[in-house]
Amino acid sequence: MAKVTYNGQIVDTDADTSLLEALLAQGCEIPNSCRAGACQSCLMQATKGEIPAQAQAGLKETLKAQGYLLACRCYPHQDMEVRLPVSGAVRIPVTVIEEDMLATDVKRVRVRPEADFVYRPGQYVTLWCDARLGRSYSLASVPGRDDHLEMHIKLVPDGRMSRWVHEHLHVGDRLLLQGPAGNCFYVPGAPQQNLLLAGTGTGLAPLYGIAKDALRAGHQGDIYLLHGAPEPSGLYLREELSALARAHENFRYISCVLVSDGPLPEGIQLGAIDELALGVAPSLAGWKIYLCGVPQLVNQLRKKIFLAGARINDIYADPFLSVADARKAAA
Ligand SMILES: Cc1cc2nc3c(=O)[nH]c(=O)nc-3n(C[C@H](O)[C@H](O)[C@H](O)COP(=O)(O)OP(=O)(O)OC[C@H]3O[C@@H](n4cnc5c(N)ncnc54)[C@H](O)[C@@H]3O)c2cc1C
Repeated sequence: MAKVTYNGQIVDTDADTSLLEALLAQGCEIPNSCRAGACQSCLMQATKGEIPAQAQAGLKETLKAQGYLLACRCYPHQDMEVRLPVSGAVRIPVTVIEEDMLATDVKRVRVRPEADFVYRPGQYVTLWCDARLGRSYSLASVPGRDDHLEMHIKLVPDGRMSRWVHEHLHVGDRLLLQGPAGNCFYVPGAPQQNLLLAGTGTGLAPLYGIAKDALRAGHQGDIYLLHGAPEPSGLYLREELSALARAHENFRYISCVLVSDGPLPEGIQLGAIDELALGVAPSLAGWKIYLCGVPQLVNQLRKKIFLAGARINDIYADPFLSVADARKAAA
């Protein structure tokens, strides 16, 4: 059993309990989100002791060299001393330059970073409301084309962060952002490959970024973007996506809903997104797939698309796990 010192408090850890779990169990407030080493919200810095290699997997070399580690992946085998990152070391300040409502419960927020920020459209960042409350949001903007970062943030009933964004975040505000993270982005090199992008709700944000990035890179294979929502009011950016489809012969935009009170507006199909996704081609063998949004749907689609012929290595997925989902998964 190793002892970890944090903020003057000594916490016991064992081989089955991550540093994050041990600290949270002692009532320490450690920022965290996915608890799977992806979002990097639980980044900490070791000031003493040996860092297990897996606690630094996926971190930039510059962070590794400074002793940063992911508390959710850290199972200490020796005594250590850790602290939260010194402000400014890994989080960069951004200023809100634009906000508007894309749907009744989706706010688009554009921020301008105050330092160089290298990312790929479709990756996600952690946006910090204060030192402790941070959540992951995907990037719909494209570097080189946009001078800002764009996020689409859905209001979750009783959601701490999303409510704050919807009610209190306004143009001119400064806040901190960390990242980027995630592998759900376009990789040039196979311009003829067909791409299928499917997502629900704000799962559109990364898919929109990926589609624009692929088109900008001159992708020649077919690109299908499928956006689903329970009902028409949940669909957004329809005009922009339809315009993109008119401008690019190889880009097809399909929106769908599960139910509708009245006749559907032109261009929206009635049906489940998984059925429509499987209907784009007789086989998805050789396709590259991007799936984002509600975890249950992303996981279902991943299975069905794999069974429809896509290689598992060609399926990139970002389920929008909430902190509560991540806790359940870790339990
Ligand atoms: C990789 C990744 C990318 C993401 N990208 C985006 C994005 O681009 N846009 C976006 O809007 N969100 C995105 N999310 C989700 C986001 O990080 C937050 O989980 C979400 O904003 C809710 O946070 P909150 O603090 O408002 O709610 P919390 O205070 O964490 O949760 C409050 C309650 O709401 C429930 N809840 C949380 N999320 C949902 C939900 N989506 N639907 C229904 N109930 C929910 C929780 O179980 C809890 O009971 C992403 C998540 C991940 C992991």
